[in-house]
Parts: sequence; C-alpha cells; structure tokens
Amino acid sequence: MAQVLIQSLNKKFDEVHVVKDVNLEIRDKEFMVFVGPSGCGKTTTLRMIAGLESITSGQVMIGDTVVNTLPPMDRDIAMVFQNYALYPHMTVYDNMAFGLKMRKFAKDDIRRRVQDAADILDIRDYLHRKPRQLSGGQRQRVALGRAIVRHPRVFLFDEPLSNLDAKLRVQMRIELRKLHERLGTTAVYVTHDQVEAMTLGDRVVVMRDGRVQQVGEPLELYYQPANRFVAGFLGSPAMNFATVRIEADPGGGFVAANEGLRLTVPPRLTDRVGPYAGRELTLGIRPEDLHIADASDPPDLVFDAVVEVIERLGSEALLVMRVGKDAMVASVEPTVPARMRDRLRIAINPERLHAFDMETGAAV
Ligand code: ATP
Repeated sequence: MAQVLIQSLNKKFDEVHVVKDVNLEIRDKEFMVFVGPSGCGKTTTLRMIAGLESITSGQVMIGDTVVNTLPPMDRDIAMVFQNYALYPHMTVYDNMAFGLKMRKFAKDDIRRRVQDAADILDIRDYLHRKPRQLSGGQRQRVALGRAIVRHPRVFLFDEPLSNLDAKLRVQMRIELRKLHERLGTTAVYVTHDQVEAMTLGDRVVVMRDGRVQQVGEPLELYYQPANRFVAGFLGSPAMNFATVRIEADPGGGFVAANEGLRLTVPPRLTDRVGPYAGRELTLGIRPEDLHIADASDPPDLVFDAVVEVIERLGSEALLVMRVGKDAMVASVEPTVPARMRDRLRIAINPERLHAFDMETGAAV
C-alpha cells in the first residue's frame, strides 16, 4: 500500500505561514494533482512529502510509516522536477542508472530496469547520448525514466512539463496518463495549469494562500465548486460572476436582479437562495451555459447583452459582452452571425447556475 496521508500539516518560513493545516488522503495508486496560483504553497507541500523541506507541525505518512524525519533517500519516493536535473556529463543510460548504482543494485538488475524504462518511454535509441544531444521532450523522458527505474512507492512531480512548448506539453500529458495507467504507482503532481490538473488528476486539490479549498474529481470541482475561488480558477474562459439582489417573487419563488439581469432563480436553488431575500449574492454562470436565445427559452431566463468583442477560435466563438455593468463571456457556435455592437438576447442554462455568498465566497 502506498497511500500518502497528510494530517494537520503546517509550514512556516520564519513567521510566514505558507502551508496551513492541510489534511489530505492520497489513495494507493491514485494520481493526485495539486493546483493553485503561484505562491499558494503547493510546491512546499510536495517538498514536505519528499523530505526536502522540514515540517513545522503535523504529520506525513507514506504507507504505514510516519516519514516526518526520514531523509528523502529512505522515503521510497522518486521526484521529477521542472528543470529535469540531469547530469550533463553522463549518458542517458548512466543518468537513469545513477540512483540505482548509488543504492548498490546489482549490475544485471540495473541494466534490466533501465532497458525496461527506456522501452516504456521510447528512448532506447538515445541511451548512449548526453543530455545536451536531446530535445526538451526527450530530456523530460529521461528524467521520468530516472524516476521509473527506482520502482518507487510514490512519484512526486513538480511542474514537470512547464519547460516544454505547448504542443509537446499536451503530448507528454497524454504519455504521463498512459504511464500511470501502466504502472499504477501513486502519484502527486504539482501544477499551476488548470488544464493539466483537470486532464491528469484522478482527483485534484485546489489550494489558495496555503489552504486547501476543495478536493475532488475534476468534473466534481467543475460542476460543484465549493466556493467562488474554485469556480473562477477552473474553466477557460473563466466563469462569469455578477452581483445580484435577491427579491421574493409574488409567485412564491425568487428573482435575481441587477442593472442588466432579471432572472427567475431556478427551483433547484430556491431553498438555498431563499435566506438571501432582500440581500445581495454573486451569481456564477459558465460561458458555455449561455447561448443566444430563441423562442423556446423561457423569458425569465433571458437577458439583453451588447457584443463588445468576438473571438472566433475555430471550435467555438467567444462573445465578450456588456450586460448592464457586468462583462460576460459566452461560448457559442463558431459560425454565429453576430457582430460587434450587436444587441443580443442571451439565455442561461438554469441547471448550471451557481450562487456564492458575497462575504465568504462559499457556494450557496
Ligand atoms: P509556484 O507555482 O510559484 O511555485 P507554489 O504554490 O508552489 O507556487 P510555494 O513554492 O510552495 O508556492 O511557495 C509558497 C510560499 O512560500 C511563497 O510565498 C514563497 O515565497 C514562500 N517560500 C517558499 N520557499 C521559501 C523559502 N525557502 N524561504 C522563505 N519563503 C519561501
């Protein structure tokens, strides 16, 4: 079993508290991704799991062992960094074999492990080359190979793809996912790239300012964000937010209104929105949950918008619109016949409407 259990984990650099009471269970064989903006503490958390950073308080367990004070060498983990950290004067073979030699593995065992890893990563033809004779993508494969040959209990990845160009990053992302399917090794992966997080993670941890905001499967986070931060962080283009006032409707329901909007709160949300009657809250609507209204859309879910910019991306068009005082983006058909300054009737998908408390940001 190679689960990683993190309990009440804290890290302070002098007086600066950068990891705050993190509790997390990373399951055996799970691919867990930490995502969040720069400086939120994800790398520091990973480095505490690795043993590269001391723990201020709390506990890290790998399998059944508390590893708090174990040196990295003895944690049975392998780490892959953004900068590859290959030895420039060694061949690819020796780079991959190095860790095993240090640990006094038998020569035959080393050869077999390196050959196997090279096959898996398709770098067999480069084993005799030096790192400088390789492309960035090939170097990153070698860095992965060096981790794989160890057969560790846990892989730790610190933004391993961020030095690659966009196309290669997508390819390597797919390779990493396949590699995980094949090896089944528990993996913890740090990135600030939400697409990487959504596509790689069995589950994703969203962090902000040293704290875990939400843990869940990618689509769970996307469709049921726990708060406004998670809602706004995941998704591109980002979720639209609008401040509205909640009014009781004579019909028994509620209306969410501001200068540009007047929407009936869908029945799914009435119980939760009810307590906000007479007060403001934040509505959240994803760009793909907006469309150009037609006769089938109920008028109480439709509003006016003025198109300010149209971005035609091929697979979709993004309408950047003004709705009262708010800017909103709608993702619509790529061939939409809209033009700048057009006034359009826009409808929302009521099933996907989100609402957040103005003060706490928590999902309502
Ligand atoms: P990034 O994606 O930019 O690497 P991150 O989420 O991984 O961000 P960390 O690298 O964990 O963030 O850093 C969290 C905070 O801790 C930052 O404010 C950073 O400046 C601070 N920090 C990290 N390492 C140290 C250190 N050795 N000494 C002092 N402060 C540090």
